[in-house]
Amino acid sequence: MTDYGRVYNFSAGPSMLPVPVLEKVRDDLLNYQGTGESVMEMSHRSSEFVQIYNDAVQNLRDLLNIPDNYKVLFLQGGGTLQFSMVPMNLMTENHKADYIVSGSWAKKAAKEAVKFGDAKVIASSEDTVFDHIPEFTADDIRPDADYVYVCWNNTIYGSHFNKYPDVGDKLLVADMSSSILSEEIDVSKFGLIYAGAQKNVAPAGVTIVIIREDLIGKAPEDTPVYLNYKTHADKDSMYNTPPCFALYVAGEVFKYIKSIGGVKAMHEIDVRKAGKLYDYLDSTDFYKTPVKKEDRSLMNVVFVTGDKDLDKKFVAEAKENGIININGHRSIGGMRASIYNAMPEEGVDHLIEFMKKFEQENR
Ligand SMILES: *Cc1c(COP(=O)(O)O)cnc(C)c1O
Repeated sequence: MTDYGRVYNFSAGPSMLPVPVLEKVRDDLLNYQGTGESVMEMSHRSSEFVQIYNDAVQNLRDLLNIPDNYKVLFLQGGGTLQFSMVPMNLMTENHKADYIVSGSWAKKAAKEAVKFGDAKVIASSEDTVFDHIPEFTADDIRPDADYVYVCWNNTIYGSHFNKYPDVGDKLLVADMSSSILSEEIDVSKFGLIYAGAQKNVAPAGVTIVIIREDLIGKAPEDTPVYLNYKTHADKDSMYNTPPCFALYVAGEVFKYIKSIGGVKAMHEIDVRKAGKLYDYLDSTDFYKTPVKKEDRSLMNVVFVTGDKDLDKKFVAEAKENGIININGHRSIGGMRASIYNAMPEEGVDHLIEFMKKFEQENR
């Protein structure tokens, strides 16, 4: 147990938020900075909220070094709506797009894209249960594909693109829902990056979209107004009411990451946390981690004992020890420790201690 009687929550999302951010939000809850109102109650057109919004955009720009020719949007609809918005807005020149299927989320995105044009899976690791990032080269991409789509961190299977794929001169689109702000990225290598916030940034309800400006305005005329990136880009995400409260918390998380030294410092902590856990997993044959070493995720660490009943026992006993939501995704079972930015290092230490004890008792 940590402060406030909080447990270590290894949920894949919604997931933990940094305690200093929660404290700040608590302190501001009834009366935000002397305004006499809560951010929950505030007009999104008020100067106070516009300030919250502008600061959030600027801080995200600073954190990720986002070049000037990219727009930052805060939308609703989660990662899932982006599965549709990406092809509706970008599969509009040759009506073709190539998908790299490295896990369930990429598979869902590819399936959705088929509704809007010729979406083709050009590489997949499904036949080995997504235990690695599928290999592909620029030659595998169709010359007239409007974009290439990847899921940067595979939340369910625990794999991650640990190097930039070679897509030649093709537009690269990435779902970074479960890894954004855990590593420095070269935004200029991507045409569009999006991330649902509830994994690594904020409570559910807000989705970050980072889009290169020349890609705005490519959607057909009859695109529903909310689903056109141009609608949001033209109005700085204020075409309609944005998800105000989630956006405000995201802004506080950005400030918090800045205060500890930015994404580089955050990444060092993430590397250390995940390193400890993988080192332990590699040191024992009691637990197995199916993911190919080079493709391991720093955010979602997947492991099994190899015995389904023992996995269940692990999850149940973990809960008694203040370790919650350590079960794997309902589609694959086993265990998954989601150790996003907000998981304290002590949480990982506590988990490893528990795993050692469980190993001794059940070997
Ligand atoms: C969780 C997740 C999604 C789906 O997000 P929703 O906000 O629930 O729609 C999509 N992609 C990835 C990589 C995810 O982890």
